Amino acid sequence: MPSPIAHLAAGAAVAVGFTRDIDDPAQRRVVWGAALIFSVAPDLDAIPGFITGDMALYHNQISHSLFFGIAACLFVTGVFGLLFSRFLDWWSYSRISAVALISYGLHLVMDAATLGPGVKLLWPFMDERFSTPIMIFYGVRHSEGLFSAHHLITIGSELAMIVGFLLLARIVFRPHRHVPDTAFVE
Ligand SMILES: [Zn+2]
Repeated sequence: MPSPIAHLAAGAAVAVGFTRDIDDPAQRRVVWGAALIFSVAPDLDAIPGFITGDMALYHNQISHSLFFGIAACLFVTGVFGLLFSRFLDWWSYSRISAVALISYGLHLVMDAATLGPGVKLLWPFMDERFSTPIMIFYGVRHSEGLFSAHHLITIGSELAMIVGFLLLARIVFRPHRHVPDTAFVE
């Protein structure tokens, strides 16, 4: 798995894209919050492992399934909407759930592109783990403790990936250039 640094960077790229046409600060905060939270949400399954001291038992299991992710994103954004949409006149379920789904989905793809066992993308229909044909991330080696030269490889490769995400976000979400109508008049 990549570290939370890389996942949060992917969430930030999603937030940059979805807030490019939003001026309202409160609306921007909700989109940013959703993108960052859902970009790391699949790894909440690490919490029981930290508590019990057995990471392998819970981490990288069903929360890394596409179907679990879709259900979790739609459920959480739906409940949030039910509770708060009356106070948010700009609320858009489709926009916020799209932010959640893309952020969550990017997490799964990034984990699948990390050296390691792969992810249970198709659980509960298949228990098999999937990896991308090309590995992009070196991933975190939890077993090596806090100080290890391997962490430098992890951080270095992830910083390179962050720069890539930022460039991609700039290209894909380039602001629309207004071309005056007179430009087409002979
Ligand atoms: Zn993960």
